[in-house]
Amino acid sequence: MEDSFSPYFHFVDNELYCEKTPVKKIAKEFGTPVYIYSKNAILEKIREYKEAFKEYPTLICYAAKANSNLSILKIFQEEGLGLDIVSGGELYRGLKAEFDPKKIVYAGVGKTDKELIDAIDTGILSFNVESLMELDVLDELSEKVGKKADISIRVNPDVNPKTHPYISTGLRKSKFGIDMEDALEAYKIASRKKNLNIVGIHCHIGSQIMDVSPYEEAVEKLVQLVFKLKREGIELRHIDIGGGLGIRYRPEDNPPHPKELAEIVIPYIKETGLKLLIEPGRSLVGEAGILVSQVLFLKDKGDKHFIIIDSGMNDLLRPAMYQAYHHILSVEKKKEKVIADIVGPICETGDFFALDREIDNLNRGDYLAVMSAGAYGFSMSSNYNTRPRAAEVLVDGENFYLIRNRESYQYIIQPEINEKIQGEVK
Ligand SMILES: *Cc1c(COP(=O)(O)O)cnc(C)c1O
Repeated sequence: MEDSFSPYFHFVDNELYCEKTPVKKIAKEFGTPVYIYSKNAILEKIREYKEAFKEYPTLICYAAKANSNLSILKIFQEEGLGLDIVSGGELYRGLKAEFDPKKIVYAGVGKTDKELIDAIDTGILSFNVESLMELDVLDELSEKVGKKADISIRVNPDVNPKTHPYISTGLRKSKFGIDMEDALEAYKIASRKKNLNIVGIHCHIGSQIMDVSPYEEAVEKLVQLVFKLKREGIELRHIDIGGGLGIRYRPEDNPPHPKELAEIVIPYIKETGLKLLIEPGRSLVGEAGILVSQVLFLKDKGDKHFIIIDSGMNDLLRPAMYQAYHHILSVEKKKEKVIADIVGPICETGDFFALDREIDNLNRGDYLAVMSAGAYGFSMSSNYNTRPRAAEVLVDGENFYLIRNRESYQYIIQPEINEKIQGEVK
């Protein structure tokens, strides 16, 4: 199993490669921590999605928050995908990466006036509206800007995606969307707004979903509502079913293929004749990335063995935030194994990558790779403990490119204002 965690991260003579590039070569050249992404792994996932949905008019909108590096966004833009954004900052990135505004959809429970105005001005494909108050505000702001806004209502289908509670977003008790029973009324209100055009319906039920049956439940409810709306004279153009497909974090994980998703939802969508939108994030980039670190120290405490590495929870928050499992491989295979806690340098007990994990017997200076770190890895990273954020590298065969510099201390403190240290405020 270890020999082929994926075709894009594999061992050659006991050494981990990304595509045709030794991981160690990149770590030596750019230092650690470093995120390494396989371009061809991403392209393969894009192909899988395109192939799965080719029989039905579908726009795949990559969910930018999974990994919003400009060079990663550019891959999706060049492949003709749309973009799913959740902030003004992501709109800014999306436009920099030259996404067609008419392929950008915008969700989020708390959009600011500035964010709304910028997106109205841009003329995006759909605001995925999450509350009645947002409808009112969007209508007023559209009037001010002098442009109509195209909208969908994000409905909350109240289905359980059977994933971690923090990434379950389609349950009634969650803050997202408008409840199914209130959605019809919301559409009626929207239809009376002079500056809003109703174009679609949206839902997103959660993330890291390992069984596609909740999608069927959600889509069935959405389609029923679409027919109800039609009877009320409200016609839509598209149904957006959100993202959420899971990926392989453990070697034994068997996440659903995009084909399974297509097979389960298309028959329902077909009945409506509406265009389909999907918003995958994690499943497009997650398995395509790793976080490479170097071992700083080893430490034994009673019968506990600690491997202390130079990445921390500021670099990869998922284990601390979601108790997430990430598989960890030694970049150079060793014969001997140990059981260890693999921890970061940060002053928090939650700062760990693995507890009581069987791993190669690593020494100071050895490199290790945290697998499946391409999604919600760098994009959730921070400067906690004044740690410069990691470098990012994109691999294409035997070529590799630095796509984000490691931050410097100077860069981190630059926005801070202190006349005595930084000089006069201009
Ligand atoms: C986060 C998010 C997605 C992407 O979810 P993944 O699990 O990464 O596929 C899609 N749509 C919306 C509205 C989101 O908030």
